[in-house]
Amino acid sequence: MPQLIEGRKIAEKVYADLRTEIAGMKERGLTPGLAVVLVGDNPASRAYVRSKDKMCRDLGLHSVKLELPTETTQSELLARVEELNRDPAIHGILVQSPPPKQIDEAAIVRALDPAKDVDGFHPANVAKLALGDESGFVPCTPLGCQRLLIESGIEISGAHVVVLGRSMIVGKPLALLLMRKGRGGDATVTVAHSRSRQLAEITRSADILIAAIGQPEFVRAEHVREGAVVIDVGINRVDDATTERGYRLVGDVAFSEVSPKASAITPVPGGVGPMTIAMLMANTVKACRQI
Ligand code: NDP
Repeated sequence: MPQLIEGRKIAEKVYADLRTEIAGMKERGLTPGLAVVLVGDNPASRAYVRSKDKMCRDLGLHSVKLELPTETTQSELLARVEELNRDPAIHGILVQSPPPKQIDEAAIVRALDPAKDVDGFHPANVAKLALGDESGFVPCTPLGCQRLLIESGIEISGAHVVVLGRSMIVGKPLALLLMRKGRGGDATVTVAHSRSRQLAEITRSADILIAAIGQPEFVRAEHVREGAVVIDVGINRVDDATTERGYRLVGDVAFSEVSPKASAITPVPGGVGPMTIAMLMANTVKACRQI
């Protein structure tokens, strides 16, 4: 049986460390604050915002949940972002994606104070990641994947990591993070995507295979070499009439087929997912630490 990399347990450890640090900050009169801005009423986004707010409160962080109507204009949203940029009680700002279609998301991200951009999407933070400047913010999901590997005792240095997917949210920052010099980095990284040829040959050469493509159970046994570590970022809904909700969540990896070959593997749900929110909390505390 492979080692099951349990994101929920590892996230609990992250929270325990954060609680200690937050208590220390509070003694010095500082409370890290996170503002989450939601435009519109997308149910999935609402659920994400609710769980972020709940986790903030649970940790004793100052939490502001700003819910704006679907018809909010670009300039109205920019004005709210500017207010939050100036608010000294707010150390992290996140504008929940995807916004309604009249909103230019890239322009909103550029309007954020990079020192409060706890999602790590502002060009200044992307540049810091590429430069290896530790003061920048790294997107939460890639950071969570790295933390899972570190906490599970998996050697990243010198390993061949194949990242499947090249999005700005997961694949690309993850590749930059794992190839960075120093602790948690120093990997040899290959990034593959929808145009890659001989994909199975590439993925079979991985010591650590990370799938972030949004294709349910795409990664099969043939894609994985014996003994590889497999991290599944994918969260996909597939129809399932046997469940109450009519669907179930699966990853980008066919777990039952791949797990017998892997030395360690993440489940879905309960793998990368819980780490993403834990890293958002960690980035908010870091933003407060750095003021
Ligand atoms: P995107 O759709 O933005 O990017 C998908 C990437 O996968 C693209 O680079 C695409 O290639 C590549 N790709 C798609 N199909 C294939 C294929 N058949 N073979 C090889 N490469 C392929 O997705 P995201 O990065 O935003 O998300 C990826 C997955 O991770 C989704 O399931 C999402 O739900 C999940 N996710 C989970 C999070 C968590 O907290 N656990 C957080 C964020 C995302 P190309 O560039 O050529 O189009």
